[in-house]
Amino acid sequence: MPQALEARPPYDLCGGHPALDFVNSLDNRFREGGPRELLADYADLLRFTRQTRLLDTGQARRLADAVNPRAAARTLRSAHELREALAAALYGGVEGRPPPPAAVRTLERYFRGMSAHQELKWERSGPAWDWGRAETNAALPVWMLSRAASQLMLSEAMLFIRACGAESCRWLFLDTSKNHTRRWCNMQVCGNRMKARRFQARREA
Ligand SMILES: [Zn+2]
Repeated sequence: MPQALEARPPYDLCGGHPALDFVNSLDNRFREGGPRELLADYADLLRFTRQTRLLDTGQARRLADAVNPRAAARTLRSAHELREALAAALYGGVEGRPPPPAAVRTLERYFRGMSAHQELKWERSGPAWDWGRAETNAALPVWMLSRAASQLMLSEAMLFIRACGAESCRWLFLDTSKNHTRRWCNMQVCGNRMKARRFQARREA
């Protein structure tokens, strides 16, 4: 992998699930001044899927070497499309609204595409899904993300998805705390900031 990729700061994976961290990669999603894109190019997509352990280092390196710019650009567009459909469905869920039908159709298309590229391999221990020839396809990171998203959406974990209590943040996370009372994506970033603000408000009151 080119050194430049390693030089960029690591992703904050406080969402607790790759599919949620993926949604959070459009930072400040609801900010009036517009969001900040953390998946700005194909190299970012490789870095993100490697950090979330969807791709291993060998897979990421092979893709970085093999993929042509056109396929990379197309894959990045797909990643953004999948992410925004996922965001629409999950923020709907958090706010108690049904997901927009268009988002569900988009997710369905990606989930189908993902499973169409898997091959059933027969190992000594039994059958297992494998990426086979898809290993060197530019879209592999998007299929990996589709699989992570479908696993999350069809699991009980859906009940424990929350949005960060900081209005300026709203990042999604999996609330695995004992009493399900976690409020912040990241205590160091949002929890302390909000506490400081409340402290300030009390002093001014
Ligand atoms: Zn937050």
